[in-house]
Amino acid sequence: MEIDNEKKELMGIPPEELGELLVALGHKKFRGKQISKWLYSNSIHDPEKMTDIPRTLRTWLKENCRITLPEIIEVARSDDGATKFLMQLEDNELTETVYIPDLENDRNTACISTQVGCRFKCAFCATGTLDFHRNLSSTEIIGQLYLTRDYIRESGVELTNIVIMGMGEPLDNLEQVIRALKVMLSDTGFGIGHRRVLISTIGIPDGIKTLMQTGLKPKLAISLNAADDKLRTKLMPINKRYPIASWINLTDEYAKYSHRWVTFEYVMIENVNDSLIHADQVVKLIKGRPAKVNLINLNTVDGLPFKPTSKKNMLRFQSYLLSNSIVATIRKSKGQDVSGACGQLAAKSVMK
Ligand code: SAH
Repeated sequence: MEIDNEKKELMGIPPEELGELLVALGHKKFRGKQISKWLYSNSIHDPEKMTDIPRTLRTWLKENCRITLPEIIEVARSDDGATKFLMQLEDNELTETVYIPDLENDRNTACISTQVGCRFKCAFCATGTLDFHRNLSSTEIIGQLYLTRDYIRESGVELTNIVIMGMGEPLDNLEQVIRALKVMLSDTGFGIGHRRVLISTIGIPDGIKTLMQTGLKPKLAISLNAADDKLRTKLMPINKRYPIASWINLTDEYAKYSHRWVTFEYVMIENVNDSLIHADQVVKLIKGRPAKVNLINLNTVDGLPFKPTSKKNMLRFQSYLLSNSIVATIRKSKGQDVSGACGQLAAKSVMK
């Protein structure tokens, strides 16, 4: 992947690691923080412009380091304001990032990808129809965020939230995701608060355990989609390997660890998982846990046989959960007209 092996990459390197790198190369550790600030707070990625850094070090950075960003090759703006960026990586692989505005609530979210393609093949998801190509590096994960933030800053909007919910499974690329989380959460990185970063997973027990050892506390969302193992395995084949019982208690532990409730995401599919029987299974699974349910209607994916449920069914499902003391919200989907909504990311051009 690395095109120029001689040069050290600076983009997406945790500030702490950057300091260590500089020390190893004979520079002062605090320069790492200064460089991070220029990169992530000020969006300056030309060392020449890092004016509080000595000229000799600036020249050294230019000669010995590289700051790599993906290239935005297409911007597709939805009528609802959601904007999907198709980004090309150094080896020409493509990835997608979605910006989801909520200007009224001052909540402006970037939805970022962690892999090109996905190994897990959930039956209803567009990414699952692609082959798995490769993991993204922390450089590429942060690069998406960087470009999205710069893009929206041009219209005076600041990025406030991050959801790691784009293409791929973050806990299947945990090493790079953890490095990227350090950049997102650190004061000298993007400085976005722990409760404003959400990581969404199919539920990989070892991954959840590892995350709890890092001290990093992003919010956790689990893609549930069915509270019954048999149905969940049909929709999400990974459930055979990691059935609900293998991770459900870990979500309680995670809630305790992070001091935040865990969210269970539930994509509603007509005649598949949208009846009151299914709602009751969710109640039995979730009741008493520090968790809430977020219902999302299915976004249709070309070539897949599933349909969204009706509004009536969705409200009935939600009411059932609420009447059983489960906190349940309905997520409004944005970006459907540009295939930028949940489950629609397939890294292909939507332009005609
Ligand atoms: N692999 C991670 C993150 C990517 S999927 C995960 O599974 O959580 C992000 C979210 O999109 C998941 O909650 C998933 O259930 C949802 N999703 C997938 N396909 C969808 C579709 N067609 N319509 C609506 N949501 C979908």
